[in-house]
Amino acid sequence: MYIFDLAFNPFAFLSLLAVAANGIVLYLVISEGLQISANRWFSYSVIAVIAWGITEAFSRMSVTANGAIFWETLGAIAWISVGAIFLAFTISYVGKEEVLSKISSQLILFGSTLFLVFLAWSTGLIVSHNPAIYHKVDYDWIGTLETPFFWLALGWIDLLFVISIGLLFRFWSTTKDLQRRKQTVFIIIGVLFPVVGGSITNGLLPIFGINIFKIAVPLTTMMSITVAYAIFRYKLFAISPGMVVSNIVETMNEILVVFNPDHYIEFVNSAVERVLGYKKEELTGQSIKKLAGSGWQNFENKVLKPIDEGKQVSGVEVNIESANGQAIPVSFSSSVLKNPKGEVYGEVGIATDIRETKDFITNLTAERNKLTTVMQSIVDGVLALDSFGHVILVNPAALTILGLEEKDILYRKLDEVLTMYDGNQKISCGDLLPNKQLTKDAVIAQKKALKIIAPSDRQIFINLTSSAIKEGSEVGLGAIITMSDVSKEKELEEMKIDFVSMAAHELRTPLTAVRGYLSVLLEESGKKLPKEEKDFVDKAFIASSQLAALVENLLSVSRIERGAMKLQIEAVDWSSIVKDSVNNFEPLAKEKKIKLTFELQENLPKVAVDQFRISEVLSNLIANALAYTKAGGSVDVLVETKGNEVITHVKDTGQGIPESALPRLFTKFFRVSGVLEQGSKGTGLGLYISKAIVDMHKGRIWVESKDGVGSTFSFSVPVAENTDKTDPIENKAKQSVEVTTTADGNKKEARFFKRKPA
Ligand code: ADP
Repeated sequence: MYIFDLAFNPFAFLSLLAVAANGIVLYLVISEGLQISANRWFSYSVIAVIAWGITEAFSRMSVTANGAIFWETLGAIAWISVGAIFLAFTISYVGKEEVLSKISSQLILFGSTLFLVFLAWSTGLIVSHNPAIYHKVDYDWIGTLETPFFWLALGWIDLLFVISIGLLFRFWSTTKDLQRRKQTVFIIIGVLFPVVGGSITNGLLPIFGINIFKIAVPLTTMMSITVAYAIFRYKLFAISPGMVVSNIVETMNEILVVFNPDHYIEFVNSAVERVLGYKKEELTGQSIKKLAGSGWQNFENKVLKPIDEGKQVSGVEVNIESANGQAIPVSFSSSVLKNPKGEVYGEVGIATDIRETKDFITNLTAERNKLTTVMQSIVDGVLALDSFGHVILVNPAALTILGLEEKDILYRKLDEVLTMYDGNQKISCGDLLPNKQLTKDAVIAQKKALKIIAPSDRQIFINLTSSAIKEGSEVGLGAIITMSDVSKEKELEEMKIDFVSMAAHELRTPLTAVRGYLSVLLEESGKKLPKEEKDFVDKAFIASSQLAALVENLLSVSRIERGAMKLQIEAVDWSSIVKDSVNNFEPLAKEKKIKLTFELQENLPKVAVDQFRISEVLSNLIANALAYTKAGGSVDVLVETKGNEVITHVKDTGQGIPESALPRLFTKFFRVSGVLEQGSKGTGLGLYISKAIVDMHKGRIWVESKDGVGSTFSFSVPVAENTDKTDPIENKAKQSVEVTTTADGNKKEARFFKRKPA
C-alpha cells in the first residue's frame, strides 16, 4: 500500500516528539480525573493534536505524493477540529458550560467544523487531492497552497482561537481570584503559540506561496504543555452546579431515594452502601417495600400514604431495613417531584440514620432518671431556679421542708412564694443567682439559719447553698439550691440562749448583794479581822467578782445572739478612750511587773463608735495581753490611721498562740488548750464578744501571733464622717441617754476584775 510506503525523514521525528509530549500531557490530565468538564475538553484537544502530529509524521515520511495526500487529508480532520474543541474547553473553563449544552451553539461550533472536515476529506477544496501539484522538499511535501478554501479552514480555526482568547481575557479581567487570574494568563500565553506562530508557518506563508518548515504541531504542543502546567499548578476550574449536586448526593451521609408513583426505586445514592450494606444496583428497580423491610406497614402509613396524597413528609421516625435484616431507625423526609405541567412523576425521600441520636437520647434519659431518683430520695431539699428566679425543679424533700405542694411553687417566682430573711435583712432570689456569666461552676451564696416565711405564715429556718454551673445561662438554669431544715436546731439554740440569759439575770441580783456585803465587810471591819479571816473574805470577794464577770459575759453573748445588742454610734475622740483604758490597767500591770505603754499617732481623727462597747473590746484585749504575758514582759497599745479606718494594735510579748488555734480563736467558749493548767481563769467569751462588737461597727479584728514570742491583736473602727460638724452638746445628750440605758456599775468593774489574780 502506498500509504505505508515510507522513508526515514529526520523531520518526521520532530512531529513524533510532539506526539510523545502530548501523550504525557494526556496521561497526566486523565489521571487528574475527568469529572471536571474543562479537563475533559482539554484532553480531547490534546488527542486531536496527537492525531495531527502522527499524520504529519507519516506525511513527512511518505515516499509517494499519494501517500502524503492521504496523511495530509487525515491530518486535516485533526487540525480543523482543534479550534472547536479548544473553544469548548475555554467555554467550560470560564464556567459557561450551559452554552455548550444548547443545540444551537453545538451546531455552530461542531456543525461548521464537521462541514469543513467533510470538505477536507471528500473534496480537494481544502487539502489538495491532486498528486501532480505535490512536490517534495527535504523536510516535507508541499502542495496545499493551490487549494481554493484552505484559507477558510485556517480562518475558521483561528477565529475560534481568537474567540477563546477573548473569553479568557474577559474572564481574566473580571475574576477577583488571584490564583485563577494567574492560571488564565498561562492559558492565554499557551493559545498564542499556535495562533500566531502556527498560523504563519502552516497557513499564511503557504497561502502567499512561501513555504518554510511548518511548526504548528510543535507550537500546539507547547500550548498543550502550557495549559497542562496551568491546570496542575493551580488546580482550579469552574465548578459546575450539576457536578456539585451529584457530588453532594453521592457523598452525603443521608440516604437519598427517588421512586416513581408506583413506589419502585429509580435512584439511590451511595449512602445505601454505607448505611444499609446494599449495592446501589440491588435497590434500583426494586419496590420500596424492600427498603422498608419488616417496618413496611409503619412506613406505608407514615410516609407513603401522606405523600401519595400530595402532602410533604418531614422528619417522621420510621425503621428501614439493612441488607442483613437489621432494623435501622431513620428520620424520613419526603416530597413529590412534579414536571412543569404539575404532574407527579416521582417521589424523593431522604432518610437520616438516627441510631446515634437515639442512643444519645436513651443515655440522656437514663441519666435524667438517675438524677431524678437521687433527687427524690435525698433528705436535703433541692430547688432549681431559672435565670429569672422561677422554680423549675423541686424535690420532695424541699416540699416537705417548706410545707408546700409542688403546684404551689413549681414554675413560680421564688420571691412570690417565699419571703427570706438573712438575720434581719430581707433577701430576694436575686441574691441566690449569679449576677454575671460564669467562667466556671461556682457557689453563689451560702446562708446559715436563713429565716423563711412560707405561705400560711409558717416560719422555718434553713441552711442553704446556692450553686451555679457555667453552662447555666445557655440552658436557662440560674442556680441549684440545696437546703436543710435547721428550725429544730434553731429552736434549741434559742431555748439555750433564753435559758442562759434567764439564768444569768437571776444570778446577777444575788451576786450583786454578795459582792456588796463583802465589800462593806472588807471596808468597815477589814482591819479588825484577824489576817487569816481577812484573807478568806478577800478571796470570796475576788471569786464573786469573777463570777459576776462571767455572768456579764454570758448576758452579752445572749444579747448578741438574740440581736438585742444595740449600738449608740457617735463621733468620739479615740485617743482619750485609749488613754483611759490603758490607765485603768496601770495598777494591774504594775502588780504583774509588766511594762504597759501606749503610742498614739498624731492628729487622730474622730471615730464613729459606741464608746462604751468599743472600750469593752479594747479593755478585753489589754486584759488578755496582761493575762497571757509573764512578769518582765511588755504590752504596747499602738494606734494608727489607715485610709478611713483607725486601727488599734495591742501587742504583747507573752506566750503567743499556737497556729492551730488561730482559726477558732474568736469563737464562743474557745480557749487555747493548756491555759487552764497555767492557772489563768477565763471564760473563752471575751474574744467572741469583742469580734461581735467590732463586726457591728463594720470593723475588722484579727491577730498575728507566734507561739512563745507574743501576739498582736488588732481591730479597726471607722473614721467618723464630718467630724467637725459634731455638736458637742448633742453628743453629751446622747452620752447621758446611753448611761441611763446601759449604766451598770458592775459591768465596768467586773471587766476590770476579770484578770485579777486569785
Ligand atoms: P478568756 O476568757 O479565756 O481569755 P478570750 O476569748 O478572751 O477568753 O480568749 C480566748 C483564748 O485565747 C484565751 O483562753 C487564750 O488561750 C487565748 N488568748 C487570748 N488573748 C491572748 C494573748 N494575748 N496571748 C495569748 N493567748 C491569748
